[in-house]
Amino acid sequence: MKQYRFVLDYDLNMTEMVGKIIHLPEYVKYKKGLLQLVEPGCDGDEIQKDLDFLCAHLEGLTIYGMTSHGALSRETHSVKFKVCSLIFMEESDFRLDVFDCSKGMTPSEAGLKYHEVLKKLQNIKGILMMSSDFALCPETFIDQINNYDPSLIVFGALAGTQKMGDDHSKIYVGTTIYERGILAIAFYGENLRLVHYYNLGFKSLGKELVITKSDDKGIVYEINNKPAFNIYKEHLGIGMNDYFFENTSSFPFYIKENGVGLARVALDYHEDGALAFATEIPEGSAVSLGYSTSDIILDESALCSRRLSDFMPEAVLIYVCMSRRMLMGDTLAELEFEFYENVLKSATWAHGYGEILHADGIRGFLNASCVVIGMREGDPAEKNIPSTLAIEKKYLKDFISERKDGYVPLNIRLVNFLESTTDDLREAVEQLFKVASIDELTQIYNRRALNHFMTQFVERKSRYKGVAVMMVDIDHFKHVNDTYGHDVGDIVLKTGVSGVKFMFNQNDIIGRWGGEEFVGIKPNMTKEEALEFCELLRSSVEQMEFEQVGHITVSVGLTMITNDDNDESVFKRIDSALYEAKETGRNKVVFK
Ligand code: GH3
Ligand code: MG
Ligand code: MG
Repeated sequence: MKQYRFVLDYDLNMTEMVGKIIHLPEYVKYKKGLLQLVEPGCDGDEIQKDLDFLCAHLEGLTIYGMTSHGALSRETHSVKFKVCSLIFMEESDFRLDVFDCSKGMTPSEAGLKYHEVLKKLQNIKGILMMSSDFALCPETFIDQINNYDPSLIVFGALAGTQKMGDDHSKIYVGTTIYERGILAIAFYGENLRLVHYYNLGFKSLGKELVITKSDDKGIVYEINNKPAFNIYKEHLGIGMNDYFFENTSSFPFYIKENGVGLARVALDYHEDGALAFATEIPEGSAVSLGYSTSDIILDESALCSRRLSDFMPEAVLIYVCMSRRMLMGDTLAELEFEFYENVLKSATWAHGYGEILHADGIRGFLNASCVVIGMREGDPAEKNIPSTLAIEKKYLKDFISERKDGYVPLNIRLVNFLESTTDDLREAVEQLFKVASIDELTQIYNRRALNHFMTQFVERKSRYKGVAVMMVDIDHFKHVNDTYGHDVGDIVLKTGVSGVKFMFNQNDIIGRWGGEEFVGIKPNMTKEEALEFCELLRSSVEQMEFEQVGHITVSVGLTMITNDDNDESVFKRIDSALYEAKETGRNKVVFK
């Protein structure tokens, strides 16, 4: 495998590049290669002219690309250059497919169609994907690839546009431009090796916020029941104006998904305070604002480049968010790129509206991040001498030495302050919640906490395949008290709870509703599974042996949270189910 990189109108012009390519030994030999062209401008006529010219003169090459938020390489100190990456493969191959979504085809339908392609290929090591029109929300295309084979790695970017709020992003294949489309390139071959890295560096700051109103087109209307923009107004002290992206992009929303920290950068705002993102943020999601520092980002990238260097890549493709450049400034952003360029001179990067990586539990869509892909054919003959060392030394000398000498720059001190305050606050809130939410006798949640969790589950029900809620009441408990005394009754409550607690796992909730009544919430259950569980719970209690008292029984009212439910309607149903269980003989489960 061999990669070349050309920075147009900087190193050379389009004609000169074509002249160079046709004389490359690999081009002469294979007459086949993959040319990625990333254009910083969104002028359709100009792109068309470029594509026509390239396709006419570079027979055999597969030409694809996207508009960017600026395509960058080490030599470019601004975002105005067109950048090409040309990859030739010896033993492996690629296949490019494109889906035009301008006439109503959804990303999910395109992904389903793509199954037919995937069926034909063997040894797929990675799929490069690009899409245009940020309202397209192409995550479901990746979901379909995941449905086909969850182990397939997808990477790439959403096309960008020069001016925020004026979405003219495009992708292109050959001489055709797609204003709303998805392209996918499958890289395959037995000897093909591919590594992927996800660098974020952003941390969660401030209090937790809940998305209270959003849609599947990426619009967030309300956060904490207030217009979403209010968060920026309150926390960053900014207003609605032309500097929206400059003011907010360094403070993306921070979310944890499957244990992985993700950032979501707002791309635009509406006058009513709604925010537009390039992917859905579901209602009920817990988010906070995120922030990073150059040091954190650069430390992470230095480490990543060292790992990449060990792999000894023959081609490197990088998709990186503009917000990092805004946060770090041009010089440090170039330095970040220098780490990778030092590993491989032809490393090429592009800024889109979002990065894509589907791997390691990440669903696909990323923001504020740097996705690095290394490729090679076969294993290296000998181990690499770490080539990043020199550049790291420069980095250490110029930037870290300041810290080493004991002086910490103001912005870092401020972030440290914010971070520690955030940690303290969260700990205090957690402690308070514990005191206020745990039942003293049984050490499970109390009624107040149950109400809190019920609200959460009702809000987030769509995230689960089903949420079961049950109310459990001990039968004839008055008799236990009357016969053996209140203290013995207390022990029955305590030991009874300990005896069934293990049946509820980490994501479940179990609490004391009051007296000898308990409520359990189990997410990710079907009605059938919930009925089975309650039956097991009932029979487990029946089999327990209590000192002095012997056996007790319980009645259970069960329900599943529905789309129309609110907290009150759920409690009403389990209450009425429990009442029916009592009325019709006790020691049984009733579903309503
Ligand atoms: P059933 O539910 O089957 O209709 O009959 P029950 O006798 O259990 O009736 P009910 O649920 O109305 O009575 C609840 C009894 O539970 C009343 C009280 O004696 C007892 N109880 C409530 N809280 C506590 C407590 O904290 N400790 C003890 N020991 N008993 C309690
Ligand atoms: Mg009872
Ligand atoms: Mg009762």
